Amino acid sequence: MKSILLIMSLAFTGNLSAAEEANGVQLCHIANAGFYMEGANSAAIIDGVILSGLPNYSVASMDLTKQIIKGEGRFSKLKLATASHYHPDHFDPLATRELLDMSPGVTWVLAPQVADMVQGDRSDIETVLPGWNGPQETLLIDDIKVEYWRVSHGRDEIQNLGAKITIDGVSFFHPGDIVTDWNQLETAGLVDIDVDVILVPSWFGLDNPDQMQALTKALNWRIAVPMHYQKGDPDWAKEYGGMAAIRKTSPDRYEGGVSLTNEMQCMTVGKD
Ligand SMILES: [Zn+2]
Repeated sequence: MKSILLIMSLAFTGNLSAAEEANGVQLCHIANAGFYMEGANSAAIIDGVILSGLPNYSVASMDLTKQIIKGEGRFSKLKLATASHYHPDHFDPLATRELLDMSPGVTWVLAPQVADMVQGDRSDIETVLPGWNGPQETLLIDDIKVEYWRVSHGRDEIQNLGAKITIDGVSFFHPGDIVTDWNQLETAGLVDIDVDVILVPSWFGLDNPDQMQALTKALNWRIAVPMHYQKGDPDWAKEYGGMAAIRKTSPDRYEGGVSLTNEMQCMTVGKD
């Protein structure tokens, strides 16, 4: 059934009007590490379907989360939902269950460790776990292409995935909670990958040239959106001038950096 839908939707993509193509893809911030990517006919969400979360990281308003779960308004285009790893600031098994029940047209793609936390029927969840030695795993969900690489969270037991999501020819890379080095990324096959946009945790590369170099060897991007800012003013942030300073200066630390931090603040990303 899925393959028939796929062929139909690919045919439909081929008939996009020039005007629709020219509009590009909307990238919208949900909260913390959560983003929504909306093309002409389909949309994807990553790390953005969360009802409870963690106290130190923002979650979307209940109104917005309910709209996403029910597929209301612009979220009726949602076809792919994914989460980088199981930590509650990225994934919520209860919200995932609700979305599965209320929006049956959406396919979830999760690492096995993450999928296992969802109660009830999991037949609508696709699982992926690329190896530490690569290569990436590629799936087509409707007309969305999604590729996954293993990206270390700093501890091997956490199944953290980097995801490249391509909609209408525009690509986005989300590395999850990346805590790693060049050697690991190269071994996993994350080398010289072209993307239009990277979404990058604001601590990665912070005062760490090796991490920044690893990022630039792994990915070639045009636009960088720093994300996953901690709430309040934690002690670790003091040596960088506090969280307010980190929020202000983070876009300048990455080539092509832009700020996209408010709930449903969106930008249009064209093909070039
Ligand atoms: Zn995490």
